[in-house]
Amino acid sequence: MTSAHILGFPRIGAQRELKFAQEAYWRGEVSEATLRDTGSDLRARHWALQKQAGLDYVSVGDFAWYDQVLNTLALLGALPARFGFHAAELTLADYYVAARGNPQHFAMEMTKWFDTNYHYLVPEWTADLNFDGGVNWLFDELAEAQALGHQAKVTLVGPLSLLYLGKVKNGLSHSLDLLPKIIPAYQKLLARLQQAGVEWLQIDEPILALDLDAEWLNAFPLAYTALSAQTPKLLLATYFESVKDRAELLHSLPVAGVHLDLVRAPQQLPALLENWPQGRVLSAGVIDGRNIWRADLSSLLKQLQPAHAQLGEQLWIASSCSLLHVPVDLAYETALDEESKNWLAFATQKLTEIVALKQALNGNATAVVTQFDAAESAILSRRNSSRIHNMMVKKRLAAVTAKDAERHHVFAERIGKQQQRFQLPLFPTTSIGSFPQTKTIRQARAAYKQGRLAHLEYLEAMRAEIRLVVAQQERLDIDVLVHGEPERNDMVEYFGEQLWGYGFTLNGWVQSYGSRCVKPPFIYGDVYRPEAMTTSWSEYAQSLTSKPMKGMLTGPVTMLQWSFVRDDQPREATALQIALALRDEVTDLEKAGIGMIQIDEPAFREGLPLKRKDWAAYLDWAVRAFKLCSAGVKDDTQIHTHMCYSEFNDILPWIAAMDADVITIETSRSDMELLEGFGEFAYPNDIGPGVYDIHSPRVPRVAEMQRLLQKARSVLPDARLWVNPDCGLKTRDWPETIAALENMVQAAKLLRATVTADEEHQDCC
Ligand code: GLN
Ligand code: ZN
Repeated sequence: MTSAHILGFPRIGAQRELKFAQEAYWRGEVSEATLRDTGSDLRARHWALQKQAGLDYVSVGDFAWYDQVLNTLALLGALPARFGFHAAELTLADYYVAARGNPQHFAMEMTKWFDTNYHYLVPEWTADLNFDGGVNWLFDELAEAQALGHQAKVTLVGPLSLLYLGKVKNGLSHSLDLLPKIIPAYQKLLARLQQAGVEWLQIDEPILALDLDAEWLNAFPLAYTALSAQTPKLLLATYFESVKDRAELLHSLPVAGVHLDLVRAPQQLPALLENWPQGRVLSAGVIDGRNIWRADLSSLLKQLQPAHAQLGEQLWIASSCSLLHVPVDLAYETALDEESKNWLAFATQKLTEIVALKQALNGNATAVVTQFDAAESAILSRRNSSRIHNMMVKKRLAAVTAKDAERHHVFAERIGKQQQRFQLPLFPTTSIGSFPQTKTIRQARAAYKQGRLAHLEYLEAMRAEIRLVVAQQERLDIDVLVHGEPERNDMVEYFGEQLWGYGFTLNGWVQSYGSRCVKPPFIYGDVYRPEAMTTSWSEYAQSLTSKPMKGMLTGPVTMLQWSFVRDDQPREATALQIALALRDEVTDLEKAGIGMIQIDEPAFREGLPLKRKDWAAYLDWAVRAFKLCSAGVKDDTQIHTHMCYSEFNDILPWIAAMDADVITIETSRSDMELLEGFGEFAYPNDIGPGVYDIHSPRVPRVAEMQRLLQKARSVLPDARLWVNPDCGLKTRDWPETIAALENMVQAAKLLRATVTADEEHQDCC
């Protein structure tokens, strides 16, 4: 009989119970015991769901008090040494200090888990780490599941992925140097799990889907041979990309099973089935753990049949990856219309899809015939719905020419006309868009949404906010102003709500990090802009000042990247549709007299495929999408873009190819190191490297920002340099915002004065 399982279930709870319990605990409102109770309730509930759905194993080890990587470190006794915690006596309070920091210790760094929007805490590898054992939480959770009568499959981040995802710190030259210490630690764990009666251990090695150097690849046989001595049966899990090129290595490892992501990379199956080792389990990840569409059960069944014929009960059915990346339960979507609700499946619904496939393979086709029929009619309904297809959009996209994505003239020509129009001083100052989102703003927005505030009153409340933001910027003597974005709760949702083709959920929360959850919209149909989205705000803001006011849009790649996307057309097509909608907005802003338009692309870099060989194809359409939305303007209209959160040095030619007149980027946290690449590459257009970190409430001193600017000047020409913060200011309070911007403007002015003085000096002598 074929078995069914998942690689992990979302831990936050259908109503974000874990988030609320954590935050109450952090505020000191509830005890640790209450928080722990919430944790066990959630685990029990999620296991019950898995069992009731008919999975053969429940997933243990996918729960974490903040993050699964941090939990693994706590288990191994490998939290960063700088905290000085006693590994075996680590408390939950200590754990949260590592995750969130406190006045004595800065928090561990956080970064994106592969190409997802989930952030893990980055291990800090130092030579003094001993991995000599940590907390018993995993074993307690296992005992909990066993006591509830569940057949538990334990999941663990594998040793090589863990090492790979950490950062090497002082005293160590390479993370693999820790291998001789981490392997015995895992050996101990595995032996203990075996003693505790665990039959299967899912050991996640997602790095197998990345481009890996030989040293990492060679470490696999070594590590897994060492682990195979005394252990539950090992199910080695790969996901997020194909491991086709690793078939030989995978086949040679002494493991009892291998999991493949057949949603992201279905084409890898035949290659891996060739020479599949005798008796080894293949866990086929066919139900999408990264998206919310209902599965096409009949075609999946067909796809699985050859593998089933070859492997029989050694074929398992699974989610493609952990369900961590999708919302918990569609049942809470009471506001969605029946038609589109029927197209979707969240984590809970995906459990039944997995089981239906298993039953069909096991010859119980009659038991699941209604489920297959329902899936089939949902697929057909989605395929044929008039809400999906908009001929106007399709025709327009088909008619797009290369010329549409090019400005009339090159930057060198445009910038002269722009300078003439705007008359900006050297080192012009600006900000990234948002200003503090105060309680008053949020309350007004909420009241409007709930119908408690009438339309005109809402407009007036937002306009009052814009007046305030403009007045403050004028007082601060900033050169290029923004309206402050008070009308936006979220930079993607705000636009999605005004575009056809976008859907929204009430409760579709997905964990982003710790207690923070996001509720991505979903794009189901051809994207179409029925009317202008931002012009009235920008026009009003511009009417208040004679200084240039930047229009503010979210770019096509970010609109795509931070949403659940259609799986019935390439991402590229969706991105270009969004670009066309934004292009109309850009044109409307220009017509309304807005001379500078910023198109934010903070997610540009995170859209990069995991494998380098796929980069060029992505960058090609991503750049094209940006240019398509931005290139329809006159030479003297200045296009800005903004990017943050990432390293750009390896994609600089493409960032330059976007051909924005001005790019503002996050650089202060890396002490302008990021900028060196821009200098070496001789980035041609204007650039505003962030001179202070907006993530911290600390007010930067003038001298600090001057130093950063001098650093920037050493790699960039003065004429190209702008002065601005790292990112938007919406999470900050007013007093610190004013103080920081005051200092920033002063830093720019002082610099202007010295440069002018130098020039005069040169002129006269
Ligand atoms: N314009 C947006 C803001 O200032 C940009 C946000 C971002 O880069 N994430 O808030
Ligand atoms: Zn930003």
